[in-house]
Amino acid sequence: MQKILVSRCLLGQRVRYDGGAHGPFDLLERWQAEGRVVPLCPEVAGGLPTPRAPAEIPGGRGAGVLDGELPVMTVDGEDVTAEFLAGARIALDLVATHGIRIALLKARSPSCGNRENYDGSFSGTRVAGEGVTAAALRRAGVEVFSEEEFAAAAARLAELERDRT
Ligand code: SF4
Repeated sequence: MQKILVSRCLLGQRVRYDGGAHGPFDLLERWQAEGRVVPLCPEVAGGLPTPRAPAEIPGGRGAGVLDGELPVMTVDGEDVTAEFLAGARIALDLVATHGIRIALLKARSPSCGNRENYDGSFSGTRVAGEGVTAAALRRAGVEVFSEEEFAAAAARLAELERDRT
């Protein structure tokens, strides 16, 4: 069975920086019932507490963090780059362990965002970009979707399952 890496906060688990969560979502509940969900909160797995100060990447470029060019900074000015990179490494370990080809991650998170991010000014300004874990997964060949792309993710999963048979 094709497994899928899913952001824990989308599964109703209260791991968001502010202690909140999202959901429930019908598709994710079905995937959980099928036993294909591998849950991960990269920030918590990387060693950060909940709740925690919000963090952003200058320019929203998670790939720049992976390349050592950019930090991840909290609104209080704390450098949390190491924790974000640790979370991304754990995601890659899970992908390797479970043969994962698809991830369904929370949109616009400095870890999980797959298309857009905040620009590092903590002003709510959105830019094209991606989170640190999302960027690491992409580089590893994993297709990253968000909760705004359930239909596309389900269609891709169906293709992958067809290819397995
Ligand atoms: Fe954790 Fe990602 Fe959800 Fe943030 S968006 S709380 S890092 S799972």
